Amino acid sequence: MAALTKFGNYLVDKGVLEKEIVSKATEKMYEYGESSPSSLSRILVEELKVSHDPVYEALAKLYAFPPMEITVDVLTDVQIQSTKDLLTKIPEEFKKKLFYHKIFPFRTSGPGKDILQILASDTSDRLMLDIPSQTPFKKYEVFWTKLKTIEDLINKIAPQRNEFLMLLEEAGEVLVDTGSSEDTLNEQALDEEINKSLLVNLFEGALIEAVRRDASDIHIVPFGKNAVDVFIRVDGKLQLWHRQENTPAEALTAVVKDRSIGVDRFERDTAQDGFAQRLIDDHLIRFRISILPIVSAEYERRFESIVIRVIDDRKVITDFRRLGFQVQAEQEFLKSINTSKGIVIVTGPTGSGKSTTLMAALHHVINPTINVLTCEDPVEYVIRGARQLKIGHKMSFDQAIRAILRHDPDVVMVGEIRDKITAEIAVKLANTGHLTFSTLHTNDAPSAVTRLYKMGIEPFLLAYSINIIIAQRLVRSLCQACKRPISKEHWEAALQLGLTEEELASGTIYEPVGCPKCSNGYKGRVNIAEALYFYPELRNEIVAAGNEIDEEKIRTIAEKHGMLSMRKSGVERIRSGLTSVAEVVFATAEDI
Ligand SMILES: [Zn+2]
Repeated sequence: MAALTKFGNYLVDKGVLEKEIVSKATEKMYEYGESSPSSLSRILVEELKVSHDPVYEALAKLYAFPPMEITVDVLTDVQIQSTKDLLTKIPEEFKKKLFYHKIFPFRTSGPGKDILQILASDTSDRLMLDIPSQTPFKKYEVFWTKLKTIEDLINKIAPQRNEFLMLLEEAGEVLVDTGSSEDTLNEQALDEEINKSLLVNLFEGALIEAVRRDASDIHIVPFGKNAVDVFIRVDGKLQLWHRQENTPAEALTAVVKDRSIGVDRFERDTAQDGFAQRLIDDHLIRFRISILPIVSAEYERRFESIVIRVIDDRKVITDFRRLGFQVQAEQEFLKSINTSKGIVIVTGPTGSGKSTTLMAALHHVINPTINVLTCEDPVEYVIRGARQLKIGHKMSFDQAIRAILRHDPDVVMVGEIRDKITAEIAVKLANTGHLTFSTLHTNDAPSAVTRLYKMGIEPFLLAYSINIIIAQRLVRSLCQACKRPISKEHWEAALQLGLTEEELASGTIYEPVGCPKCSNGYKGRVNIAEALYFYPELRNEIVAAGNEIDEEKIRTIAEKHGMLSMRKSGVERIRSGLTSVAEVVFATAEDI
C-alpha cells in the first residue's frame, strides 16, 4: 500500500473517507506520476466516484479557503440584480468558461468594490488564475461552495438560453389551430410558413439541447399519422425528448434535409448521409446525419427515420489514464502502446466506447517527431497532430489503406479491420515496424483471434503481429447520491454472477433508486473490459494450434496471467460500488 500524502492523511483523519479508498487513489496518482492534493481529489471523485463535495470541502480547508453557504431560494431580487450587473462586466467567452468549470463570480467587496468574490466548488481550479488578465478585476477572493449550489446559481441568475426552444414555446399555440376547415388558400400558405419556422426552431433547438444534455445521438421518427417524436440518447439509453403534435413527420424531415449539407431533399427512397455544424455555447459542434427510408402502414406515404450523431470534440479523452480501465487492462494496454510496432485492437459492439479508447490511445502516442496517419470512414474526430485521410468518392477506403504504406507512417489508425485486405495491411504495417490501431466487431477478445484467422491471416502472423486485443463495453454508473444496498429479491441474479451471500449481506453491493440528480438511478458510464495481452505463452499456443485455434485455451492462458473476463470485470465494478448487477448482466448477456 502506498504511503498517504499529507492531504490523504487529512482526509482519513478528519473522517471524510475510509483509508482504503484514499490508498487506492494515492496508488493511482503515483502511477500517473502526479502528487498534488488536487490530482488526488480528481482521482477520488472522477475515477473512484467518491462524492464531490466532502473531498473538495476538505481541499478548500487545507488551503484555508473559507466556505460560503448560500441558499439560492432566499436570495433577494436586489441581490440577484447586483450579481447580474456584476456578470455583465465579465467578457462573455470567459464567463462561459467559468460556468463550465462551475466557478461563479458572486459579488464584489472592499472599499472600492474592486475585489471580486468568486465561488468555486474546486478551489484549486487553475482557471481562476486568469481572472486578473481576463476581467476588469485585478484582485479576487475565492470561497468554497457546494457544487449543487453553484449549479443552482447559474441556472437562476445566468441560465443558458435555448432561443430556438423559446420561440418554439411561443409558437406552440398557433399550430394547434391549423385543423380548421374553412382555411382559405392564403391562410394555408401562411400556416405552412409558420409551421416551417416552428420546425426550424425545433430542429435547431434539438441540436443545442442534445449537446447541453450530453446526448450522443438524436433520433427523429414518425409517431402515428400526424406527430413526430424526437428522442435523445443519454448514457446509452434513448429517451423521448419532445413530441410534436399536429405535424406530419415529412415536414420535419424536409427541414432537417434543408438545413444539412450533402443530402438531396427530393430523394426519399435510399439511405443518405449528411452533415451539419453549429456554433453551440461558443464551441463548434459537428453532426453526422443518417437518413433511412422506413416502411409505413400507409403505402402512399414515404417515411424516413433520421439519426443524428453529435460529435463534440470536448468529449474526446486525450489522457489515456482517464479512461479508467482496471489495473491489469490499463497496465497491459499501456505496455502495448508504449512501443513502436504491433497491432492494438479494440473490439466490441457499436456504442461500446471503442472510438473513445482509440482516441485516447492515439493521443497518448502522438508527438511532433512521428507521422501519424488515420484512415477511417467517416472521420469521427479531428485529431491535432495526425494526418487524417479523406475517404470519399474520389478515394475509397481500400485505396486509402493501400496508399498508407507508401506515405512513410510511424503510427497508423485504421478505423476498422473489415476484410482480408485491411487485415493483411494491418499485419504488414505491424511487421514492418509500425504501431497500428484498429477495431473489430466481436463479443470478446479471444474470438477476435478467430475472426482474423477466418479473414485469411496465418496463425503465426497473427501470433507475432498483435500486441493486445481489448474487448470492452460501457455500463451505466450508479448515481452515488441515491444508490442503496441491494434488496433481497435481487440476490439471485447477483449470486449467479458470482457474488457471495456475505458480500450481498454486507451492504456494499448496490442497486439504483433514482433522484433529481440522476436518470433512473444512473449517472454517466464506466467501462468493463477484457484485455488479452499477447504473452509469449499465448503466442506459442496460437502458432501451435495452427488451423484449430482454440478460444477457450487462449482464454485460460490469459486468465492465468491476470486477465479478467468481461463478466468478472463487471463484477469488480459492482464490488467497488460503481454499477449494478442488472447493468452487468445486461452488458454481458451474450458472454457465457
Ligand atoms: Zn440519483
